[in-house]
Amino acid sequence: MAVQQNKVSKSRRNNRRAHDALVAANPDECSNCGELKRPHHVCPSCGHYAEREVVAQANEVDLDEDAA
Ligand SMILES: [Zn+2]
Repeated sequence: MAVQQNKVSKSRRNNRRAHDALVAANPDECSNCGELKRPHHVCPSCGHYAEREVVAQANEVDLDEDAA
């Protein structure tokens, strides 16, 4: 087991942890469907990014193609 050479003071420890706070997500409204989405990410509910569809949605793809 590694053993530290010097004791880390409460002050040094707390100073190190000063930057550890989590920041809340800042969701953006999708310009196509209005759903909340992560900024700079494809909208997970409609697949749009920058005003155009970039990911085809499952309900638009015919999955029963070879079943008929
Ligand atoms: Zn959307």
